[in-house]
Amino acid sequence: MGYSKEIYVKALSIKTDSVKKAQQIYEEGLQRLRATDEEFRTIEIALAKAGSAITLAAFSGDEDKLAELKIICDGLNEKKQGILSRAGIKKPTVACRLCEDTGYAKGKLCQCVLDIAKKLTYDRLSKTLPLDNCRFYNFDVNYYSDKAMADGSVPRKRAISTLNLCKQFVENFSPDTRSLLFMGGAGLGKTHLSLALVAEVSAKGYSVVYGSAQNLFAAAEKEHFSFSGETAAQDALLNCDLLVIDDLGTEFYSSFAASLFYNVINSRLLNRKPTVINTNLTFDELEKKYSARITSRFIGGYDMKLFIGTDIRQIKAMEGK
Ligand SMILES: [Zn+2]
Repeated sequence: MGYSKEIYVKALSIKTDSVKKAQQIYEEGLQRLRATDEEFRTIEIALAKAGSAITLAAFSGDEDKLAELKIICDGLNEKKQGILSRAGIKKPTVACRLCEDTGYAKGKLCQCVLDIAKKLTYDRLSKTLPLDNCRFYNFDVNYYSDKAMADGSVPRKRAISTLNLCKQFVENFSPDTRSLLFMGGAGLGKTHLSLALVAEVSAKGYSVVYGSAQNLFAAAEKEHFSFSGETAAQDALLNCDLLVIDDLGTEFYSSFAASLFYNVINSRLLNRKPTVINTNLTFDELEKKYSARITSRFIGGYDMKLFIGTDIRQIKAMEGK
């Protein structure tokens, strides 16, 4: 589970280390030239002398002398630059204008550090989740029957429409994107599409937290009752750009989890942060387990998609895949 304080700390140290490293490489290059290049050494000494002379001339108000010294300095600097560029030594340039590479701008972590944090989150997610196996391109709608069910709905049509909704979700991902609730039996592709959303949205640079309801709630509960003051797990649930809760309904539902879950659902809707939930429970079962207080939030703020058809894992097993 990413996007905790620890990720920010890591991102900031990556930023400051890269700045330090660039400066160090430059300094080492200069030392090398000083040790090996007589002309370079002479130029540096001449520049230092000219610098002192400029200070003196400025004090005495000798404009002519000042102008003459500046021309000398320019010439020396030009020569110095020539030697540096022939040796392939470049003075580190500021990579981020917002923070001048300090990592902080206007008292907050700078966007350049947040970008690194997002990248770290994605790398971590892709290492721990089978993201490559679960993408839009390998979501095979042919596993859904094209024959109408008793109520007239056609599984394949449903699957195609849900797939398209997910593609739009990614394409237009923003704080205004409506949350999604995937319902339906096991093995109907809910987790596949959820993971595809995780892969695509994190690839766009957003922070994504994904986990089973059991793991996510347990992490926050453990943190809460450790009384350490640490709130990284809860912060991640509340503040990540996209939260994906897998397999809602199978978790142990304590009174802590109940209030946490309501808080997460409600706060994220109020703060316009999209959430994707998938569950094997029906809407009635959800209401029974989590109360109408929560399901009314789903009705107001979620697009609900019902997955129908035959367990795809069983079909694949029969086909020997
Ligand atoms: Zn910056």
